[in-house]
Formats: sequence, C-alpha cells, structure tokens
Amino acid sequence: MSEDRRVDAPPPQTGWAQGVPANWIAGLERITAYTDTERVTHVSGLCPRCDHPLWMDVGGNEIGVGLTSRERIEILLRCNCAEPHEGRPETEVAGCGAFGKVVINR
Ligand SMILES: [Zn+2]
Ligand SMILES: [Zn+2]
Repeated sequence: MSEDRRVDAPPPQTGWAQGVPANWIAGLERITAYTDTERVTHVSGLCPRCDHPLWMDVGGNEIGVGLTSRERIEILLRCNCAEPHEGRPETEVAGCGAFGKVVINR
C-alpha cells in the first residue's frame, strides 16, 4: 500500500540518528548565514535530514576576535530543531542527530 505524499503534509517523521546525512551538502542550499551589527553570525534554515527549522548563533568568542570581513569560517552545525524524534537519547535536548560542516563567509 502506497500513498502519495501531499504537498501540504508535514514532513515525514524521522527517527533520531547521529551522523552526517547523505544529503547534507545538497541540503545546505536551504541554510543561510548572516552577520548582524554586533558581528554575531547567525545560521538558520531547514535541517537537510528532518526538514525542521534549525538555527545557530556563531559567537565571536568561539571563532576569535579581530576577524576581518568576508573571512571564511568553518563551523560544525548540529540540528537543534524543536520537534520530537523517536529514539532521541535523554542526553540530547533537541534535534534529530544530524550534523555536518558548514563553510560561511562573514
Ligand atoms: Zn527535526
Ligand atoms: Zn534535523
């Protein structure tokens, strides 16, 4: 028995799994980064694995002060969506377990 997925249906429920999803690179198209006037870089978008919104603030302290503009930095982005994922360990407070590297220009 198969059923076409409706366009307006919610994303299919994804179980928790730690690792880099196979479609991570392609999925990064839906993730954007911007740097605000306080020089804090924000990353947000839809998780390539579970389709839920994720976000991350890349604080200046974590990547060093005195960065010039348009510097390329590499961060490890982890899904931190607020949706439940079956099988998520109690030690994980959010997300579906997906993570991967993201290179952003700031
Ligand atoms: Zn999710
Ligand atoms: Zn996710």
